[in-house]
Amino acid sequence: MENTFDIAVAGAGPAGLMAAIAAAGKGEKVLLLEKMEKPARKLRITGKGRCNITNIKPEDEFLSNVFPDSRFFRSSFRNFSNTDLVRFLNVAGLDTVEERGGRVFPASQKSRDVAEVLVREAEKRATVICNAKVSRLYTEQSRVKGLCYEHRGKQIDVPVRALIVATGGLSYPLTGSTGDGYEFARHAEHGIVPLRPSLTGLELEDYEAVCLSLKNVELSLAVDGGIVQREFGEMEFTGYGIDGPSVLKISRNAVDAIRANKKVAVLINFKPALDRQQLMNRIDREILSIPTGSFTDLLKKLLPSAFVLPFARKIMMQANRKLTTFNSSDRERLVNGLFATKYSVSGFRPFSEAIVTAGGVCLQEINPKTMCSTLIENLFFAGEVLDLDANTGGYNLQIAFSTGYMAGQNAAI
Ligand SMILES: Cc1cc2nc3c(=O)[nH]c(=O)nc-3n(C[C@H](O)[C@H](O)[C@H](O)COP(=O)(O)OP(=O)(O)OC[C@H]3O[C@@H](n4cnc5c(N)ncnc54)[C@H](O)[C@@H]3O)c2cc1C
Repeated sequence: MENTFDIAVAGAGPAGLMAAIAAAGKGEKVLLLEKMEKPARKLRITGKGRCNITNIKPEDEFLSNVFPDSRFFRSSFRNFSNTDLVRFLNVAGLDTVEERGGRVFPASQKSRDVAEVLVREAEKRATVICNAKVSRLYTEQSRVKGLCYEHRGKQIDVPVRALIVATGGLSYPLTGSTGDGYEFARHAEHGIVPLRPSLTGLELEDYEAVCLSLKNVELSLAVDGGIVQREFGEMEFTGYGIDGPSVLKISRNAVDAIRANKKVAVLINFKPALDRQQLMNRIDREILSIPTGSFTDLLKKLLPSAFVLPFARKIMMQANRKLTTFNSSDRERLVNGLFATKYSVSGFRPFSEAIVTAGGVCLQEINPKTMCSTLIENLFFAGEVLDLDANTGGYNLQIAFSTGYMAGQNAAI
């Protein structure tokens, strides 16, 4: 065995970088191993290149966005909260700004700057080696004795006093997150809650592809005929179906229902600000303004142009019909379509396109106050490798930072 370190961290994403910073901050000799050519590849593409670092919502509201067990996350969040994270980054030289919905971004609007600050802080305190893939753990009598990593064609064994696994999930595998940590957990006899893509697009049946962004719509998720979730906001029609903020929010429940072979559908309300009578009145007013027009002309006043023909076909009304022939049952059909256009959901986009992985290392076997395994006394887990995920809005990165910080602090003596 070469070299000696107190603590090794596998994976230099946000969780691993923060774990290394916290452990080294307690005076430990820390080795941070990253299999890609540079640390934090995924962090560099977060938030469409802007990086939504965290969300500044108060604790209870924050935790209501965390799944499947937000109570597990409470201790880590209290120990290193959203405000602690922002303060840490500000002191380290990264200015931040708060935007709509409590979302925090770097003032430079560049995710690269967040990654670079963290890497710099980690490199000040720990030994960071890239192109270093952790390939196995050595365990003996409920303890990790060391690990092996591959570096420039060599297999290098390192003895450690504690190991923190922060290898991420399965989403966007080109960034290095290929699920290696689940194998380490299995080796240590940890249970893995089934892995599913989350915050991902949904594929629709009987859907005519159109590329279009919509604002201020209400999206409802129906499972076996009953509405289970409603979201208001933005969504997009894409080549395969739907994506965008509201869709990502319902995707966790939709994916689970599809995997359970349930009947899944979405209903889109294009006019959620109006009640039935108000929408009827609006339609009547529009018809009066174009008495000799066609149904297409009317729809153009109510919906984005790109969606007019697909919508007319969806509700089975002839687009070139003259409004002079428009009767009360046509009006009913139009109102029903505008309030609740229904599509069956046939599938979901894969891990390669999903923002996060739901499922992971079983929380029942991890001490929430330390992030230490309850099976192996010096093995810690942090970040997306755990069975913890959240809505969009900066929550997922905070999970990585808080659990990383907790693991780092507690792996240190
Ligand atoms: C496109 C996209 C945009 C996102 N935007 C946001 C956002 O704006 N806000 C937000 O809160 N969340 C966002 N997320 C989610 C967020 O990026 C993740 O939740 C977060 O990166 C998880 O951090 P992590 O450190 O646990 O794992 P990762 O970031 O996946 O890091 C794990 C690291 O471990 C390394 N690794 C893996 N296996 C090994 C091994 N065997 N040996 C050594 N190293 C290994 C990987 O190469 C990787 O660098 C986004 C995700 C995606 C895909």
